[in-house]
Amino acid sequence: MSEVKAVKMPTCNWCGRMILPGEGAVHFSCPECGEVTIWRCEKCRLFGRPYKCAKCGFKGP
Ligand SMILES: [Zn+2]
Ligand SMILES: [Zn+2]
Repeated sequence: MSEVKAVKMPTCNWCGRMILPGEGAVHFSCPECGEVTIWRCEKCRLFGRPYKCAKCGFKGP
């Protein structure tokens, strides 16, 4: 039996919504530690919601 791993979809750092390809989401490395990729969905970007790095706890606008 072969185990098929599902493609890991990125989720928004703030609201946890799945990021769908083609939407206006952005992603970038954490400005503080650079080890975590932070995703922000279109809506959170629009509303300027904050994000928090899961590794170093850095918070940004
Ligand atoms: Zn979001
Ligand atoms: Zn970080």
